[in-house]
Amino acid sequence: MTTGRYRAGVAPEDTGVPKAALAPSDETFKALLNHGGHPEAEVEKNPCRLRLMAVHAHPDDESSKGAGTMARYVDEGAEVTVVTCTGGERGDILNPRLKDDPEANADLSAVRHREMDRAREILGINQVWLGYVDSGLPEGDPLPALPDGCFALIDPEEAARPLVKLVRELRPHVMLTYDENGGYPHPDHIHSHRISMLAYELAADPSYMPELGEPWAVAKIYYQLLFPPAQMIAYARYMRKHGLDNPFEAQMEYFEGLDQRPITTRVNVSRYLDVRDAALLAHATQVDPDGFFFAVSNEIKREAWPTEDFQLRHSRIGVTLPESDLFEGIRQ
Ligand SMILES: [Zn+2]
Repeated sequence: MTTGRYRAGVAPEDTGVPKAALAPSDETFKALLNHGGHPEAEVEKNPCRLRLMAVHAHPDDESSKGAGTMARYVDEGAEVTVVTCTGGERGDILNPRLKDDPEANADLSAVRHREMDRAREILGINQVWLGYVDSGLPEGDPLPALPDGCFALIDPEEAARPLVKLVRELRPHVMLTYDENGGYPHPDHIHSHRISMLAYELAADPSYMPELGEPWAVAKIYYQLLFPPAQMIAYARYMRKHGLDNPFEAQMEYFEGLDQRPITTRVNVSRYLDVRDAALLAHATQVDPDGFFFAVSNEIKREAWPTEDFQLRHSRIGVTLPESDLFEGIRQ
């Protein structure tokens, strides 16, 4: 990892991010990003209260991605808002203990809303629904068409408008989103990425839809990195050293072969792992308590890899990388 200082308005390309990774694939998105980037937009520094906005595709994504970071910033006095793009209506019941639960089978959407309410309380965050309809994860060969009216089929700029309005209203200093592949290739995750990048850009543009509110320049936007290979390798090393069985032994070759996205920012969440687990378990229909997320104990996580990890995707302020704080350069 190189350490360097970047000029305002310039994507941190010398973090080792391949140029191709910075080139947006979607044409609409590309055209909008190429229109200047508003590097002159004024960014608020030294605010009385720091504000973070995390954009997620479905209820439960906020608890499995970056929840420790959000709980930490809430604890430190920041205002943290999760924007949930869809209601998760097309999700499956992933907890084997609730497969036959009559309530969940009758109205999964209502159950997921209640689960989200509980997770919100546990994390101490604010949460807003954008109200789009879950696109579902298409499976099969060939893949079936996406259902009419679903989130991923809405034109990105149109779908981004309510988010632009929220960014202008809530005025976050930092935004979190997924990488251009969605973190994993669910159409709603990819679309969440697109509308987040557009909203980051368009909210700052005084010529874009003034009826959506006063322009607001978010200082930085990050990709959340879920289970970077280095994390899995660190767990494996720790367990080997201490004579423990690695529950992911069979998958280690896969993890070791994955490309590592550059980690620019590591936020220590060792004090918030239990809160994160509680929030995740609140999404009872979506999370198997005996599954992947809980296979490694928090004790091992604290020792081997106590951080949640992010890649700075764009900054309107000068930054020094690597960082250990999403608000570095913004806070007093
Ligand atoms: Zn999701």
